[in-house]
Amino acid sequence: MRAEQGSAAAPAVPFAAASALEADTLFAERSRLAVSAAAADDGPEAPAAEARVIVVTSGKGGVGKTTSTANIGMSVARLGYRVALIDADIGLRNLDLLLGLENRVMYTAMEVLDGECRLEQALIRDKRWRNLALLAISKNRQRYNITSGNMETLAALLIEKGFNFIFIDCPAGIDIGFLNAIAPAREAIIVTTPEITSIRDADRVAGLLEANGVFNVKLLVNRVRADMIKKNDMMSVKDVQEMLGVPLLGAIPEDTNVIISTNRGEPLVLKKKLTLAGIAYENAARRLVGRKDALIDLESPSLNLLERAKQFLSGGQSE
Ligand code: ADP
Ligand code: MG
Repeated sequence: MRAEQGSAAAPAVPFAAASALEADTLFAERSRLAVSAAAADDGPEAPAAEARVIVVTSGKGGVGKTTSTANIGMSVARLGYRVALIDADIGLRNLDLLLGLENRVMYTAMEVLDGECRLEQALIRDKRWRNLALLAISKNRQRYNITSGNMETLAALLIEKGFNFIFIDCPAGIDIGFLNAIAPAREAIIVTTPEITSIRDADRVAGLLEANGVFNVKLLVNRVRADMIKKNDMMSVKDVQEMLGVPLLGAIPEDTNVIISTNRGEPLVLKKKLTLAGIAYENAARRLVGRKDALIDLESPSLNLLERAKQFLSGGQSE
């Protein structure tokens, strides 16, 4: 694997449990956001900054790209940024499902590119957070001949429209669909599970990203099971990060609530009672936008982190 990058590329933020202070900050901010969510119509004012185009990719399928795009995208929107999500998984479109927006896909990027509708008509604004929008590339599982040039045009249109973050949900594999999806990206989040097949694909993808000029790459380790790591049945997050030599953005635990939230079309990070995976996604999103939050350590968890989250958020709030 990419041994040459080894520990030199280790994250600037130490792999350590979130301190009580940071947890407090996170929870206080959530309660503030919950209040502003109720008041939001066109969404909060976005901080001015250069737009960031980030592809969420993995090589291997089924490791959590779409789940991570939906949850990190939603979290970043809740932090006040204008966020556009592009579903570039043309054959297996399902980002709309995870966001509960599936019945609202009328126009897609193809109609925008063909001049049949305006970008605004193809952007599906989330009703909960109006500063989050989804752009689907295809409808009805049809395959279209999108090119990397088309993808660059779409990203440029979204930047022109004032979006601060554009997340591209990448298809599995490393063929033309992958190359198209990464074309406009300046940054990447590589999602992997702590399994050797997934790590090998992630390593391959890391090399391809670099070869294609995407140098700003971060790692998200998904479906982590502390119980298995303890028994030496699963690689630790640190092991995975060191194998790949890519800085760590976050680690997300295995959590059955992911499936429930997928079925409901409600990203985990919207739950008032956060589960540990919800906290972990928020933590990753905050780190992505440059907050100085330490990484939540899933392996020697401040077990009371979840307890504290529950207590803090349960007062008077249902579900
Ligand atoms: P991809 O987009 O990489 O194909 P998905 O985001 O669609 O992957 O996830 C694949 C499956 O794994 C889905 O059924 C999803 O609910 C499940 N999944 C993803 N992350 C987790 C997690 N942290 N815990 C439990 N299930 C998960
Ligand atoms: Mg997917």
